[in-house]
Amino acid sequence: MPSFFEPPKTDRYALRNVNALLEDGNLAKRDIVVEKGKIADILTAGAAPIDIGPDLKGAMVWPCPVDIHTHLDKGHIWPRNPNVDGTFFGALTATMEDRKANWNAADVEARFDFGVATAYARGVSAIRTHLDSFPPQAEISWPVFAKLRDKWAGKVTLQASSIVSMDLFATDGGKQLADLVAKHNGLLGCVTRMAGEDHAGVPAGFDELMEKVFILAEERGLDLDLHVDETDDTTARTLIRIAKIALKRKFKGKIQCGHCCSLSLQEEDAIAETVKLCADAGIAVVSLPMCNMYLQGRKAGRTPRWRGVTVLHEMRAAGMNVAVGGDNVRDPFYAYGDHDMAETFVQAVRILQLDHPLDGWALAATKNPAETMRLPQAGRLAKGVPADLIVFKARSWSEFLSRAQGDRTVIRNGKAIDTTPPDFAELDGIVGAP
Ligand SMILES: [Zn+2]
Repeated sequence: MPSFFEPPKTDRYALRNVNALLEDGNLAKRDIVVEKGKIADILTAGAAPIDIGPDLKGAMVWPCPVDIHTHLDKGHIWPRNPNVDGTFFGALTATMEDRKANWNAADVEARFDFGVATAYARGVSAIRTHLDSFPPQAEISWPVFAKLRDKWAGKVTLQASSIVSMDLFATDGGKQLADLVAKHNGLLGCVTRMAGEDHAGVPAGFDELMEKVFILAEERGLDLDLHVDETDDTTARTLIRIAKIALKRKFKGKIQCGHCCSLSLQEEDAIAETVKLCADAGIAVVSLPMCNMYLQGRKAGRTPRWRGVTVLHEMRAAGMNVAVGGDNVRDPFYAYGDHDMAETFVQAVRILQLDHPLDGWALAATKNPAETMRLPQAGRLAKGVPADLIVFKARSWSEFLSRAQGDRTVIRNGKAIDTTPPDFAELDGIVGAP
C-alpha cells in the first residue's frame, strides 16, 4: 500500500512540523531530526532548517508501539476451528481441539510468522506472546518461538511467556516447564484456574501453587506474566492474593497480570484494597479490551450488560504501570483483529473511555509496555533511540480516533518500510481457504 509520504533517503533529515507523541504521552508540535537511523534531536517546530525535510503540516508521529500481550501460537486458526457460540468456554474447547489435532512445529511457525509479519507492517516494534505450554505442546512451540525470535531480530523484538493451567505446578511438570522457559530466556506464566475449568472463585490450594510459581521464577531469575480472573464471576479474586504473595516474598522480578476482569464488578472497598496492594507490589496490569468485550457477558439471545474490562483508570491513578494489548487474533478467543496496535489503542479509548481528556493514555500502547518488557529504547521518542516511527496522516486525536488509520508511513531505523500486510491467502494451505 503506498503511504501518503516517503521520508527523504538522506542520512540526515527532519520530519518538520509534526504532532509528536512525546514521553508524557501527549502531542506537541515538533521537528524530529533523524541521523544515521537514530533520533538526533527533537526541536520546537520551526527550528529545523527547512531544506532538510518535508513540512508534514501537523501529521501525528508516534514511536513504534509495543504489543505486550498476544497469543501468536493461536493466531488465525479461526477458519478451521471457530468458536461456535462465542463464549469463553467455547474458546477453550475449540482451541484445545485445534491444538491436539494440528499444532505441529510447521503449523505453529506458519501462523506465528504471519502474525509477526502483519504486526511489523503495521509498525509494531516489540511483541510479547504467550505460548500454550501444557505438555507436550511446550516442547513443540518454544523452539519455534526461538527460531522466529532470531528471524525477526532487529525488526520485531519477540518475548514469550508460558501459559498453562495452575495444576501443572502441583507436579514435577512445573519445574520442567520453568527449566524450559529459562533455557529460552522466556517468562514464567500461568492462568489462575485449573485445567478445563472456568475462572470462578479461588482454586483450591491457590496460594501454595502460586507460591511455587514465584519460587520457580526466583530460582531462575524469571519475570512473571499471569492470566488473571478473566470472568464476570465476582468470586474470582486471585489478583489480590498474587499481590500479597509478591509482597510477602519481596519478589525482585517484574510481574504483569492480564485481564483482571472480575475486579471491576467487585465492591468499591475491595477494588481499592486490591489496587493498593498491586501498586505496592509493583504489579503491571494489561487490559485486553477487544478480547474482553468479545467474550465477557456473552449469552445467546441476551444483550451484553458490561464491557468486560478491568479498572484501568483507578490503577493508573494509583501509580501502576498500565497497558493495553491486542491479545488474540482470528482465533476462538477473538474472531477478529489485525495485530495493529493503532487499532488496539483506538478500541481501548472507546471501550475503556480513555478520553476527555486523553491525557497521557497513549503511553499504555508505547512506553509503559516497553518498560515492562525491559526495552528502554522502544516505545518512546527521545534523543539517541532508533528512529522507529509511525507517521499517521491524522493531525489531531479527533482525526486519529475517527477514521481508520490505514494511511501511515512506518519508519524503521530511519528508513520507510513496506506497509503491505501479508495476504490471508498465504495461510490457505495451513488453515484452509474460505
Ligand atoms: Zn491472553
